[in-house]
Amino acid sequence: MTATRVLVLNSGSSSVKYQLLDMRDHSRLAVGLVERIGERTSHLTHTRLGEERATRERGGPIADHGAALEAVAEELAADGLGLDSPDLAAIGHRVVHGGMFFTEPTVVDESVLTEIERLIPVAPLHNPANLTGIRTALGLRPDLPQVAVFDTAFHTTMPEHAARYAIDGRIADRYRVRRYGFHGTSHAYVSRATAELLGRAPEDVNVIVLHLGNGASASAVRGGVCVDTSMGLTPLEGLVMGTRSGDMDPAVIFHLRRVGGMSMDEIDTLLNKRSGLFGLCGDNDMREIQRRIDAGDAQAKLAFDVYVHRLRKYIGAYCAVLGRVDAVVFTAGVGENAAAVRRAAIEGLELFGLAVDEERNAVRSGEARLISPDSARVAVAVVPTDEEMEIATQTYALVANGTALEDHS
Ligand code: ADP
Repeated sequence: MTATRVLVLNSGSSSVKYQLLDMRDHSRLAVGLVERIGERTSHLTHTRLGEERATRERGGPIADHGAALEAVAEELAADGLGLDSPDLAAIGHRVVHGGMFFTEPTVVDESVLTEIERLIPVAPLHNPANLTGIRTALGLRPDLPQVAVFDTAFHTTMPEHAARYAIDGRIADRYRVRRYGFHGTSHAYVSRATAELLGRAPEDVNVIVLHLGNGASASAVRGGVCVDTSMGLTPLEGLVMGTRSGDMDPAVIFHLRRVGGMSMDEIDTLLNKRSGLFGLCGDNDMREIQRRIDAGDAQAKLAFDVYVHRLRKYIGAYCAVLGRVDAVVFTAGVGENAAAVRRAAIEGLELFGLAVDEERNAVRSGEARLISPDSARVAVAVVPTDEEMEIATQTYALVANGTALEDHS
């Protein structure tokens, strides 16, 4: 019997999200989340899906990622889905930063771990946690292929003129300063799913993907290949996000340092954690912002307007980058749910052949769908993202072609 299950692990600094999928029918067998690892109030939520659907929770301290993964393994085993099952084909890990080195999902070995470690200076918050997750999983199942799937990989096709910052090239090269882009698994999945929704091959369509979650990024995808994206060296560049500023004059940093007397760490925290929607109005949840706008709150309205203005600028820019656009697609928490954001982002862009049908836009659904009128030259769509499915698909594709299994047999 062939092993067809893939465990997907997304290890953050204090959390681990996981899903167990069966690639025979792309079904989800179990999902869960360990939160506040390292604190006294750690919490695990595990849900067995399918006919025997049930959710279990555990409180109490979980000291580190090792203990967290062991707890996950116990929960899976209690459902008869343990890590020792012969049905488990591989573990797929989300890794945030793969630099220019990793252009594809990669079976993990010592040299891969070393390279992910070398990238820590450009991803100090994410890569260490991702590495810990991989090392812990390797400890639990050293014989099983472990595949790293990189957030940056989809963007490594960007041409140099889109990836380069206009700074001294020698300095840029020495410190590996360039635009890498993130959310790549989502942009890859959603651009492909959009082609499917249009009934066309990915190679034939040009798509602008707007991934609007707590973090947010836009990308221009030509014939299935990423040609530009809004995030840069780190996820700080580009759109206005939940708590990140996105684009601004870099001189703001010098000004805050020299005139404001703030330390570099304080400025880092300001721009990453206390800016964006949160910085503008004190809330980073679009639902709350909409409630406040409905109640006549001017500060919330300004935050919404700044957010939408930036989004429209990127839509316009990527129309210019692509030349021909077949679809503009909204995804992630805000993109999939906030009809008001979609309406405001597209309103008045008839110049680009873009329009939203009010009735279609108002429909709430978990399905991929068109929200443009039939007469529109360019499709506007909502396509729910599924990063775990994409990681599992890429992991399984690598393992099922035999190379990974041979390496680890
Ligand atoms: P993450 O980047 O954490 O994965 P998500 O893609 O889950 O984020 O998006 C989370 C955000 O989606 C929330 O902060 C909230 O602003 C927004 N959101 C979720 N549901 C709704 C909704 N019904 N209406 C408007 N915004 C929503």
